[in-house]
Amino acid sequence: MTARIRSVEAYPLSARMPRPWVPSAPHLHIVVVTVTDENGDTGTGFSWTPTIGAASVLAMIQNDIAVFAVGRSSDPTELWDAAWTHLHEAGGGGVTTIALAGLDLALWDLAGHREARSLASLLGATRDRLPVYGSGVNLHYSLDELLAQVQRWIDRGISSVKIKVGKPDLAEDVDRVAAVRELLGPDRALMIDANQRWDIPQARAAAEALARFDLAWLEEPLRSDDTAGYRALRRDIDVPIAMGENVHTAYRFRDLIDAEAADIYQPNIVRVGGITPALRIADLVLERGARLAPHLLPDLSAQFAVALPGEVEVEDVEEAGFEELGLLAAPSPVKIDRAVAVVHERPGLGLEFVRS
Ligand code: MG
Repeated sequence: MTARIRSVEAYPLSARMPRPWVPSAPHLHIVVVTVTDENGDTGTGFSWTPTIGAASVLAMIQNDIAVFAVGRSSDPTELWDAAWTHLHEAGGGGVTTIALAGLDLALWDLAGHREARSLASLLGATRDRLPVYGSGVNLHYSLDELLAQVQRWIDRGISSVKIKVGKPDLAEDVDRVAAVRELLGPDRALMIDANQRWDIPQARAAAEALARFDLAWLEEPLRSDDTAGYRALRRDIDVPIAMGENVHTAYRFRDLIDAEAADIYQPNIVRVGGITPALRIADLVLERGARLAPHLLPDLSAQFAVALPGEVEVEDVEEAGFEELGLLAAPSPVKIDRAVAVVHERPGLGLEFVRS
């Protein structure tokens, strides 16, 4: 029988980003969670709260999740549903699932340490590397800065890139996407990401104006809550739609798939509540014939994605890996080498965080 949980401890950790995603909020925040079982074995996970919610997530872990988890099974797949049910009064997804991810990831780490196996190995990985795509949080960059970033990706041999759109004036988006497409040439893939900035008429107009640049996908044109809006938009435009980084439960992914809301689904492993629900969501998306593209967190997502079937690209944002941000006390198990993410064999998640 799996050992029971003796304690759950958490602390906040922040890093100043060399390339802030939100210029007014240059720090990225995580909450590190350590679980100890009754044998004294430990596992470490984290909740990711880049700009919003770190203190709330920390409080939920300390006040609600730790109290619930102590004395219960340390098998993450046994614990997850009961813990989610326990937290549900505070919301089916959002702060609850982000907080729960910290515990779930710590339990997967603990399971890996017990068996001296990596997360990728526990998940049945069949490979140790995947291609990356260059992803820029660059809406606030000048056109020159944007093109310089795209040139750095080209120089690394990267063949797919994603840029932000959603300028107040659509003509400016058109100019930027046109310039990036010209620099990329016809053979590299270009994705664009609106980060939920538009309503349906704006999204339709943007898709019409930008479709001629041969876009691999348009990401989050609308608020992620607007399932009917996505369904209507997808029927109207020729560009494939990607979304899912702000969708928190398997139920919501199922409803979106039923509504034919998107072509590509992008769960964020932390926002959905950890590895345990992310596995279910991945199965659901792939079973239903949609494409899966895990969102961000290459230090974690690459370890998850090497166990997925088919072609998956790892999203790589410049200077935003945990090691580059100074959040780790030991090298990350995931090394980005030019256009490839290589997953090194380490027990568990292989992420050792610095103390705050
Ligand atoms: Mg996005």
